[in-house]
Amino acid sequence: MRFKLFSTALALLLSSVWAQAQVVTHEYVPGEIIVKLRSKSKSMQASAFIGKAVAEKGMALKGTWNGLNMHHFALKPGASVEKTIAELANDPDVEFVEPNYIVKMQSAGLEGQPVSMESVYESSAASSSGGGTVTTFAQTSAPVGLSSGWSSQTPGKTPPVVAVIDTGIDPSHSVFAQTGAVWTNPNEIPANGIDDDNNGYVDDVHGWNFVANSNSPYDDDGHGTHVSGIVLGVSQDITAGSLQPAAIRIMPLKFLDSTGSGSTSDAVKAIYYAVNNGAKVLNNSWGGGGFSNSLLNAIAYAYDRKVVFVAAAGNAASNNDSSPTYPANYNVPNMISVASTTDTDGWSSFSNYGASTVHLSAPGSSIFSTFPGNMWGRASGTSMATPFVSGLAALMVRESPTMPGYQVKSLIFTAGQQIAALANRTSTKERMYVPSALTMSKSAQVSSTQPSYDVASARMPASSEDVGGDQVPACGLVAKAIYDAKNGGGPSGPFKSLAFFGVLLILVSPILVSVMLRNRPTGREKRRYERFEISSSVTMKIGDRELTGLVSSISQGGVQVDTDAWLQNGGVLTMSISSPDGRETISVQGQVVWSEEQKRYGVAFSNAESTIKQTIARWTAGLMAN
Ligand code: CA
Repeated sequence: MRFKLFSTALALLLSSVWAQAQVVTHEYVPGEIIVKLRSKSKSMQASAFIGKAVAEKGMALKGTWNGLNMHHFALKPGASVEKTIAELANDPDVEFVEPNYIVKMQSAGLEGQPVSMESVYESSAASSSGGGTVTTFAQTSAPVGLSSGWSSQTPGKTPPVVAVIDTGIDPSHSVFAQTGAVWTNPNEIPANGIDDDNNGYVDDVHGWNFVANSNSPYDDDGHGTHVSGIVLGVSQDITAGSLQPAAIRIMPLKFLDSTGSGSTSDAVKAIYYAVNNGAKVLNNSWGGGGFSNSLLNAIAYAYDRKVVFVAAAGNAASNNDSSPTYPANYNVPNMISVASTTDTDGWSSFSNYGASTVHLSAPGSSIFSTFPGNMWGRASGTSMATPFVSGLAALMVRESPTMPGYQVKSLIFTAGQQIAALANRTSTKERMYVPSALTMSKSAQVSSTQPSYDVASARMPASSEDVGGDQVPACGLVAKAIYDAKNGGGPSGPFKSLAFFGVLLILVSPILVSVMLRNRPTGREKRRYERFEISSSVTMKIGDRELTGLVSSISQGGVQVDTDAWLQNGGVLTMSISSPDGRETISVQGQVVWSEEQKRYGVAFSNAESTIKQTIARWTAGLMAN
């Protein structure tokens, strides 16, 4: 055992040099990491790993994506990201570990201040009467055939959902309000404080704000609203006086803050949310940071679920072939990397290019679109080009709903028009073109399969070879819970078999007692004890956000909750327990843990105050005495 420890420490030292070189080049969130575990025996291994990370390294779980076998951790205050990465890279259970990179929106700039539509008309009238050219209100005058997209849609089709993963949206802008374009989660009841669809997010009726952890993805920057207007503008003339019911729905997922900056972990959350909640097209007008294995895995997850991923090529006027921009450069088959061209099919000077890694262009110079507060304005960037392609992809999916993202991408490339400006700048040499793409999607033979994509082979080497070795020991928190129970005079008698839950059991015992009493067979006694039923709501705290749900069932062994959903949001629970008479409520925070012994999840309330234990003991004693 000692030898084993020594050799691990040596490997750690050796790897730390490389690992440090790996992580210092890009900005990342201090004190946070993202870990993907190897896929063998997923859930058991994940919980053991999490338990160990929490108990031994003082890390706090901030989020879990079970579908990706990835976990987001905050390190113990003061702990070094580089050092922790170096350590974990040697853990045989770890497939990769990386910093939580910072990413930013891809806007090259706003032209002037946003104005109201009235003043747009006024300035247009002024310039017209003065003999000048009439100001065009079109979002773009580039020859992409937008009006064909407006007029040749098959009526009566279901609007597909485009996730705008950005700074949010102002849903009250008349363009979105009058068209009903903002996505509504059909399985969530508004404002009831309950996660009705059990997706881990309470009252997520119109998207989510991953920055504030709230159900209000309001746009405090303007970028996301501008992008959203461009997406919708592919389906109808949003500058026209009369608006039509939306043919495309926008799922606003805010992960960039008011300065246009966000983290990879929130991007992964947003992508994961979008895919799992029905978005068919993901618009990504953002980028930056280093190569992120977790982001790559999230995009591959979208690909596996036939979702198309559209990304801005970037605005550094640089070559993505030699200096990659992420996420646009992830070579997943559902990726469309979009450059910007002008209204006259010229090259946008700010746009990144890449003869092999950037795919095609869309208009992105001086694009007219919506801004918060019912305003309008022009902005430039590959951020603006990207949503034109996303809108087109959505119209195609609308025509042919089962078409996989991979095929959508392929048809967009087939339909594009070659322009001179792109000769050495994109792989297709094309600018997007709506009419042919729409026609082709109407008659497309939908491909039932798509090429397999091996994300593991695409990822960057981020950890050392699998060194094998011992099984990960049982989760530290579980062990501690048992220990505490033994020393704290925990359960005895009929509860003895519940020893695993140790501290938890003490806290939950009023509920268990209540259940037992209610299970007694007959009349008078049963009625008598029913009034002792105890409220068993569970509240989970994630930052400032609180999720509340009811304990779904109670069984020997403790409380059963939807641990997948809890884990996804950090695994920290606050359980509120009311006294039998309902006059007192106490709450205590715990952590979802895996019990190796019982092969199931439980909640370890390792920090239970003795006063809480005493309080519950008092309640329980009262129940028994009755
Ligand atoms: Ca929900």
